[in-house]
Amino acid sequence: MKNVTVVGAGLMGLGIAQIFAARYYSVTVQDISIAALDRMPETIARIGDLLGNDPETSRRIRTTTDLGQAVGQADLVIEAAAEKLEVKQSIFSVFEKRAPGEAILASNTSVIPISQIAVPVTDKRRVMGMHFWNPPYLVPLVEVVEIPETGHLERDRIMQLLTSVGQEPVLVRRDIPGFIGNRLQHALKREAIALVANGICDAETVDRVIKLGFGSRLGVIGTLEQSDMVGLNLTLDIHNVVIPDLDVTQGPHPYLQQLVAAGHLGMKTGKGFYEWTEERAEAVRERLKTFLARQAEGRRELSSDHQHGQERT
Ligand code: NAD
Repeated sequence: MKNVTVVGAGLMGLGIAQIFAARYYSVTVQDISIAALDRMPETIARIGDLLGNDPETSRRIRTTTDLGQAVGQADLVIEAAAEKLEVKQSIFSVFEKRAPGEAILASNTSVIPISQIAVPVTDKRRVMGMHFWNPPYLVPLVEVVEIPETGHLERDRIMQLLTSVGQEPVLVRRDIPGFIGNRLQHALKREAIALVANGICDAETVDRVIKLGFGSRLGVIGTLEQSDMVGLNLTLDIHNVVIPDLDVTQGPHPYLQQLVAAGHLGMKTGKGFYEWTEERAEAVRERLKTFLARQAEGRRELSSDHQHGQERT
């Protein structure tokens, strides 16, 4: 694979483009917004500074508003446009007509089943989900989502490709809404919102419990590993008491719906679950970026120690 096309020059699209451009792939980024494409060089330079990348990275990224032209020579196409089924389907119908017959067609959708997005494609052996996490150049996970028709060869090639560019792919064997990560993340969020809505605690307390309690372990011990560590009998005793009491609201919680209806969308409007000033919001973004960059640095050091260890033996 040489030519990678990314559709959508937003937060995710540019992050994904930089991963491949930094590894010397020829990358084309397409967007319907010229303003979004114009931001590309500055964004890629900022990410490059953070990661210590070759300053020439953005020169390996071509931009265009013409989707047919963008996918004409592609070996791999990753759609990272708006999270709307009709938008994604219309983009995939252009892939069907204009991308080479062997090109892999992937979507970075957060939650929409890939089979629905791929309706316009006839040969579905080459279709799969490629769900990166934000920011993709600092968070290594990519969920590779199979649909029943996905070819095993095509899927394995993509898993290898992702590993070769420094990501950590996992396979999702069934095309269910939200795949694995967002199902887990939003199961937690549903209970978090219910705790606040039911007056058990405020938003800050929920987040302190997560960050200072079980969240502080999650980077090194997964939830099922942790159950095995403490014993499944204890997990069963706990589930007998707590599972029947957890929130089971079907659909989005009314409290969330009320906040959105009132225009409280979070940092961008100054109020969501919390009150925000621009300075406080910027401090949180900066804290997150520094934390993730340190973790990424730690992983790079570990993998280079491991490689040197192997060279010595
Ligand atoms: P974004 O709003 O930052 O960027 C989306 C870009 O797509 C915009 O530049 C927009 O102009 C462009 N676009 C819209 N319609 C288009 C079309 N028809 N053709 C070409 N370009 C079009 O959004 P984002 O956060 O980068 O998310 C992109 C996708 O990735 C979504 O499906 C989203 O659910 C998914 N995703 C987002 C995150 C996240 O944390 N933001 C994480 C993982 C996956």
